[in-house]
Amino acid sequence: MKTQASPIALAYPAPRRSLQASVRWQNRVVTMGGHAPVRVQSMTNTDTADVIGTAIQVKELALAGSEVVRITVNNDEAAQAVPAIREQLDKMGIDVPLVGDFHYNGHRLLHDHPGCAQALSKYRINPGNVGRGDKHDKQFAQMVEAALKWDKPVRIGVNWGSLDQDLLARLMDENGQRKQPWEARQVMYEALITSAIDSAERAVALGMRPEQVLLSCKVSGVQDLIAVYRELSQRCRYPLHLGLTEAGMGTKGTVASATALSILLQEGIGDTIRVSLTPQPGESRTQEVLIASEILQSLGLRVFVPSVTACPGCGRTTSTKFQELAKQIDDHLRAQMPVWRSRYPGVENLKVAVMGCIVNGPGESKHADIGISLPGTGESPAAPVFVDGEKVATLRGDGIVHEFHQMVEDYIQKRFGTPIHTP
Ligand code: SF4
Repeated sequence: MKTQASPIALAYPAPRRSLQASVRWQNRVVTMGGHAPVRVQSMTNTDTADVIGTAIQVKELALAGSEVVRITVNNDEAAQAVPAIREQLDKMGIDVPLVGDFHYNGHRLLHDHPGCAQALSKYRINPGNVGRGDKHDKQFAQMVEAALKWDKPVRIGVNWGSLDQDLLARLMDENGQRKQPWEARQVMYEALITSAIDSAERAVALGMRPEQVLLSCKVSGVQDLIAVYRELSQRCRYPLHLGLTEAGMGTKGTVASATALSILLQEGIGDTIRVSLTPQPGESRTQEVLIASEILQSLGLRVFVPSVTACPGCGRTTSTKFQELAKQIDDHLRAQMPVWRSRYPGVENLKVAVMGCIVNGPGESKHADIGISLPGTGESPAAPVFVDGEKVATLRGDGIVHEFHQMVEDYIQKRFGTPIHTP
């Protein structure tokens, strides 16, 4: 059927224009930039010298959906532990690439611990923390030499908390000479961007291919991050890793990260992301992976897990049954995904609706693959279920939750299960 032009433009994230890099471990290749999907990264908070503890956390992060996991490599004990962590992960069948996070002594650790240099899949170099004065260029070059020797990509990761102070001082001096000096904040932006791009160009001059270099310029303010990355993306084509550094805890960290990253991603800026969330006491580290995945899925850039549409509830429903059902379904679908990804190809595209009353319930349920509209206060105690837009059943009584759960399972099996071929 021929469609007619509408005055309402469809909204899409703008295309990205970066080079494509790749991070590898054995047969696992994670492409970043170019036409590759925007990747989810995370970072452990265990003591890297604790081999088992770190391997377990890396496994949890990988199973939650982290496609690359960064670990701190801050001393000899940590560097010695890296090959053992890699070995443990390989034994567990976890092939997620590991990135080493180096500061101050990375040049020495990579030289003194070849097993560490080899087991890592990428090195993070912070140009603000590779040494000052004469030592800066030499130690930076030593890290790049290690990357060349072991054929690893690097991320030049600038952070405003550890900005190259010599560079900042020089740019401040230059700013003082201007007839109309920039604001101090603009000088700081310039220092971040210059530090990243100059370091990348130095790495390329030392022999790295541009496709082996990724950049990040992390700051902790939303508007600062947007300003810096907009400019950075204009000045280079290296793949960009996005993250609001020290985003904070809970709701504040989640909202700030989602706000900053979404604006940039919608503009086609950013090839990998990390949500730097401070875990609440007792909270799993995997929360940062779930939020990063949710940001990408909400923007329509990736699909990781089936989506559950649930209404917020209001005065028309005083029952908490629909909240409980929505949570149970959501938790169940997420928990099953590590297994279902291979058993039910495409299951991540499933859409489930759990609604609280008749106002929007049937309509929203019809838009989903499978949906239920629970009875609101004063409504007949019946819950119509819709499958592929058609009403297929009306559930009643105490078994509604269990029966709907089973209907979702049956739907997944029927739609996404591999057909059994009989001769
Ligand atoms: S679907 Fe019903 S219960 Fe849910 S928010 Fe809308 S009116 Fe309220």
